[in-house]
Amino acid sequence: MSILDCAIIGGGPAGLTAGLYTTRGGLENVVMFEKGMPGGQIMNSSEIENYPGVTGEISGMDLMAPWPEQCQRFGLVHEMVTITRVTKKDNIFTIHKEDGTSVEAYSVIIGTGSSPRRAGFKGEDAFFGRGVSTCATCDGFFYKGKEVAVVGGGDTALEEALYLAKICTKVYIIHRRDTFRSAPNTIERVKKVPNIELVLDCVADEVYGDASGVQGIKVKHKSGEIRDIVVPGVFTFVGNNVNNEVLIQEDSTFLCDMNEQGQVIVNISMATSVPGLYATGDMRIAAPKQVISAAGDGAVAALQVISYVDELLNA
Ligand code: FAD
Ligand code: NAP
Repeated sequence: MSILDCAIIGGGPAGLTAGLYTTRGGLENVVMFEKGMPGGQIMNSSEIENYPGVTGEISGMDLMAPWPEQCQRFGLVHEMVTITRVTKKDNIFTIHKEDGTSVEAYSVIIGTGSSPRRAGFKGEDAFFGRGVSTCATCDGFFYKGKEVAVVGGGDTALEEALYLAKICTKVYIIHRRDTFRSAPNTIERVKKVPNIELVLDCVADEVYGDASGVQGIKVKHKSGEIRDIVVPGVFTFVGNNVNNEVLIQEDSTFLCDMNEQGQVIVNISMATSVPGLYATGDMRIAAPKQVISAAGDGAVAALQVISYVDELLNA
């Protein structure tokens, strides 16, 4: 394969928008490497109500459905593969794939986003996929007419609790403090729902069950008191880790400058400390962690890449 004008790593809102703008802006040889179905983590959201111009109830999956097709119309190629590492020698990047092969590119836009964090209570790993979940849209229906628990106190936990409350008879929100990190209007909505109970100042201690799955969760109040909540399903929404693995080099250093939280340091053009390498969306410093801002980052980076590749090849 010839050297790509641009390799895009990640097919969430950032990567897809970068794909749209690079191809529509005239780059002909652009591949988006996405390990799964394009769309990113918003595909796990049951409802998105803050994407401009999109009114009414819409799920993350429905919002993202037309994005890949729109990009492909302008020539973006999607290759479904996991990228293990990005390296650079002279002016050429090498994109290393999971199968051991690689491809070269003049520029790279990385938008690998973030992944759900584990809360760390006993039984969480053992029961993961058997009653413990990080996706209400995917697994909520299994608990139709039953009670479930949600662990966390951010936007995701509260929004997904609202979704689950429509399917389940009762939702316990277990949060380690007595105030929430979530947006104020979401907190107000949660407080008005009769079948949501707030279990505050409590940490999840242990999920227990048997071979057929989860039977309940024990929570510990800050006073030390233990409460047993009998539920067949536990949803954890306790934040995300940055997916920065592809930037780790053979000597364990990062390809570009990072901050202490493992986020990529960029300037307002999404340029990293390495010429030709741009970082977008949830993985960059000070990311607002929104679909609209990730998409905006993708557009900014793509416009920079068009100029960068032009200057590189026509210098
Ligand atoms: P991501 O969406 O995380 O996409 C990254 C992509 O990269 C993924 O598809 C992943 O498979 C791929 N990838 C990762 N590593 C590799 C690799 N090594 N090789 C190949 N591919 C790779 N935002 C809002 O604006 N409004 C909301 O209402 C809202 N609700 C949310 C609800 C939930 C449940 C969650 C989890 C998030 C929500 N967000 C919301 C936040 C929003 O989803 C993110 O800010 C946004 O998706 C970030 O986009 P991104 O492109 O940076 O990364
Ligand atoms: P988050 O904002 O980081 O919140 C994580 C929550 O989990 C916090 O309440 C935190 O408690 C709690 N927590 C963390 N570790 C824990 C542990 N080990 N055990 C128990 N609880 C733990 O994560 P998020 O809600 O997934 O949101 C991520 C980003 O996406 C945010 O920037 C958010 O605004 C954005 N987002 C936006 C929307 C929207 O705009 N509508 C929707 C979803 C997400 P503390 O509060 O005590 O730290």
